[in-house]
Amino acid sequence: MKVLKFGGSSVGSAEALQQVKHIVEGRPESVIVVVSALGGVTDQLLEAAGMAEKGDTAYVAAFEALAARHRAILNDLFESAPTALSQTLEEKLARLRTRLDGVCTLKVLPEKTRCEIVSYGERLSSAIVTALIDGAALYDALDFIRTFPQQGRHLLDSHETEKLVRETFSGFSGIAVVPGFIARDSKSGEITNLGRGGSDYTASILAAALDAEALEIWTDVDGFMTADPRIIKTSYVIDTLSFAEAMELCNFGAKVIYAPALYPVYPKDIPVQIKNTFNPSAKGTTIRRDNPDPRPVTGISSIDDIALVTLSAPSMVGLIGIDSRLFGALSRQEISVFLVSQSSSETGITFGVANADAEAARRTVDAEFAPEISHGAMRPSTVEKDLAAVAVVGEGLKYAKGIAGRLFTILGRNGIGVLACAQGSSDYNISMVVEKKYLRKSLNVIHDSFFLSEYQELNLFICGIGTVGGKLISQIRSQRERLMRERNLKLNIVGIARSTKALFSRDGVDSEDYRQRLETEGIDITPERLRDEVIGMNIFNSVFVDCTASPQIAALYKDFFTHSISVVTANKIAASSDYANYKDLKETALKRGVKFLFETNVGAGLPVINTINALKNSGDRIEKIEAVLSGTLNFIFNKIAADIPFSQTVRMAQEQGFSEPDPRIDLSGKDVIRKLVILAREAGYQVEQSDVEAHLFVPDDFFACSMEDFWTKLPSLDAQFEKERQRLEAEHKRWRFVAKMENGRYSVSLREIPEGHSFYVLDGSNNIILLTTERYHLHPMLIQGYGAGADVTAAGVFADIMSIANI
Ligand code: ADP
Ligand code: ASP
Ligand code: MG
Repeated sequence: MKVLKFGGSSVGSAEALQQVKHIVEGRPESVIVVVSALGGVTDQLLEAAGMAEKGDTAYVAAFEALAARHRAILNDLFESAPTALSQTLEEKLARLRTRLDGVCTLKVLPEKTRCEIVSYGERLSSAIVTALIDGAALYDALDFIRTFPQQGRHLLDSHETEKLVRETFSGFSGIAVVPGFIARDSKSGEITNLGRGGSDYTASILAAALDAEALEIWTDVDGFMTADPRIIKTSYVIDTLSFAEAMELCNFGAKVIYAPALYPVYPKDIPVQIKNTFNPSAKGTTIRRDNPDPRPVTGISSIDDIALVTLSAPSMVGLIGIDSRLFGALSRQEISVFLVSQSSSETGITFGVANADAEAARRTVDAEFAPEISHGAMRPSTVEKDLAAVAVVGEGLKYAKGIAGRLFTILGRNGIGVLACAQGSSDYNISMVVEKKYLRKSLNVIHDSFFLSEYQELNLFICGIGTVGGKLISQIRSQRERLMRERNLKLNIVGIARSTKALFSRDGVDSEDYRQRLETEGIDITPERLRDEVIGMNIFNSVFVDCTASPQIAALYKDFFTHSISVVTANKIAASSDYANYKDLKETALKRGVKFLFETNVGAGLPVINTINALKNSGDRIEKIEAVLSGTLNFIFNKIAADIPFSQTVRMAQEQGFSEPDPRIDLSGKDVIRKLVILAREAGYQVEQSDVEAHLFVPDDFFACSMEDFWTKLPSLDAQFEKERQRLEAEHKRWRFVAKMENGRYSVSLREIPEGHSFYVLDGSNNIILLTTERYHLHPMLIQGYGAGADVTAAGVFADIMSIANI
C-alpha cells in the first residue's frame, strides 16, 4: 500500500484533477489518496472569515467566487455531475455560508469557528476527488486524525490517531480518498487542523501508522530542488536526500514539504518521493534515511523576516546559567529561536527570531536580566530587524573542510556582509544571516558556487549602443553558445542603456530587436537613475560596460565599485581624469575586490596596458614610451597626397568613423594626450594632462570657433600642407604624430620620421608603441596593429570582460 498526497495546485483545476485521476487509477496496489484544498482556497476561506469578523459584507462575494469555482470544476469534469456529488457540494457550501453569516452577525471569530470554516476547503476537494476516481471511497480525516491543544496550537495526538487510523483502515484495500490538513480535538471533538501545509502531515501520519511502502508527495515541481526555484532560476532537482537533510531544508523555508510531515515516516524509513503531477514521468526526489550521494552541500534554503537580538556584557566569562535563563525566559513567552551564535570569549550571545517577535524578545531578555543590567554587569539587549538567513545543508558538511570559509569568501566578494553565522546546530547546516535586501543575491552566489560550478556566470550592463557598444553586443551574442560549451562561461546581458533609455531584465535583454525595444519598452533614465537601477538590481558577478565617451557615466564608476560591480570601459575620461581621481578609482576597485579594466583606452584592441602591467608586475621598470597612438591622425597623414588635400583627409576620417565625432579632439592632440597620460600612469608615473607639452599643427583659432566655421576654414591650411608634403616626399620622410614619455617629460608633437625608423611604415589607422624598459633596453619592445575601429575596440572590451571571468 502507498500513500499519495496531492497538493493544492494538483487539485486546483479540472485539467489537474484529470491528471490525478490518471495517476491514481493506473496503480496496481492499494492507495490512500490524501488531498489538499483547491489551490488558494485555504487562503480565501481565511480571508472571507476575517472580513465577516469585521462586519465587511465583501465576504459574500468572496464566498460566491469560491462556490462558483467549485461548481465550475464539477461542470468541467463531468458531462453531467453525479447528483449525490452536487448535493454534497451544495450542502457543504450552504453550511459554510451559514457559518460565515453567523460570524458577520456576531462580529466574533472564535478559534473553533475559524478552524471549522477553513476545513471546508479539504472537505469540498475530497468529495470531488472521490467522485472522480473510479472505485474510490471517502475516508473522513475528521474521524481519525486527533489533536490536543498546546500553547495556542493544535498538536498531533499521535497515540490516539494511530489507534484510530489502524482501526479505520483494518482490512482496507482499493482506493481511499482522505481530506488532508483537517482533524478533531481528542477531548472536545471540535474541528481543528494540523497547520498550514498540513496535508503533507496527514499523508505521512497515515503512511507511518499503516506501514506503507512509500509516501508520494505530488506537487507542481519536478522534485526537491537545490534551491527555491522561484528565486533561483538555475536550481535543479536533487535525486536523493536523507531525512535529516530534508528536515533541515524544510525547517528553514523550503516549502516543498511541511517539515513536521517528515517525522512520522522517518523512524520507519518509509521512503518519501516528491513527484510532479504535471510531469509524472520525471524521476522526482527520493528521501530516505541514508543518502547514498552525500555531497557536502545538497541544498540551500532561506528564511526572511528575521531579526537578531544580541545580549552582551563586558564579561560573561564564567557566569553560569546565562544561556539557560535566556532560553527559559524566551520559551515561557513562546518565542521561538532558530539560530544562536555565541562568541567563545563569552562576551555576547546573538540569536535569531521572527521579525514579529523581535520586540517581545528584547523586552523578555531585558526583564530577565534586569538586575544585571541595572548594576552594569550587562548591557540592555539590541535588536537588528529586516534580516534574512541562508542555510547551506548537507550531511557531507560534517566531513568537508572549509565550507564556512568558502561561504564567507563568496558573500564578501559580492559585497554582502555576514551579520551572524551558526554552524553545528546540527552537523548538517551552516546558516548565515545577511541583510534582507541581499537575500536573493546571497542565494544566487552561493547556489552558483556550490551547485553550478560547472559554469560561471557574468552579468553585464552595457551602456552605449553606438558603434562599439553595438558591435560588442553582437559579438557576445555570436560567441555565447561557444563560451558556454567550451569555457563553461555564461554571459548574460542584464541591462542595455543609451543616453536616455534603458532596458533591464535578470533574464537577459539582448534579443535581436533590443534597439527597438529600448524605444518602446525602455525606461527613461538619467545617469543617476541608471546608477540606481544597476545597483538596485543587486545582481551577483555584475560588470558595468561603458561604451560611451560621457563624463557623466565615467562619474558613476566609484559607486559601482563600492557596490561590488566591476567596470570595463572604452571611455577614456576616468583613467585620464585628475590623478587623484584615477588613483581613488583604482584603489577602491582593489579594496572591493572588483576589476577596473580599460585596455581599449589606448590602441583599441592592442594589448598595451596589459603588457605594461605584466612587465611591471614581473619587476621590470618602464623607462621610456614612444608611440603613435592616434589612429585618426595616422589615417590623415597616410592619406594626404597630391590629389587629396589635408582638409579632405580630415573629412574622410570623420566620415569613415575613425575620428571622434568632433575631429578637433584628435587634431588638438587631446585624445593622444589622454592616452599618453593613461600609459604613463599605468607604468607607475604620477602625471596630469597639463604636464604634457603639445606641439600642434593646426592654429589655435581653429579650436575656438564653431564646428561650422571650422569646416569652412579648414581648406585654408591645404596649400601649406601640400608644400610641406612635397618637401617631405623628396626627403623620404613621413609625418607621424608622436607621443613621448622620457625622463619625466611628456610631449605630443607632429614629427618628421625618416625612412628606416620603425614608425615610418605604419599603414592606415594603425598604432605603434615602443616600450623601453630596464630589460628591453637596447631593443625596445614593439606593439603594433589596428589602433582604431569599432570591431577591434569591441573585441578589446570583450577581452577585458573575459579576463574578469578569469578563464
Ligand atoms: P503543494 O500545494 O503541492 O503542497 P507547495 O506550494 O506547498 O505545493 O510546495 C511546492 C512549492 O514549493 C513549489 O512550487 C516551489 O515553488 C516551492 N519551493 C520552495 N523551495 C523549494 C525547493 N527547494 N524545491 C522545490 N520546490 C520548492
Ligand atoms: N490547504 C492547506 C493549506 O493551504 C493544507 C495544505 O495544502 O497542505 O495550508
Ligand atoms: Mg504544501
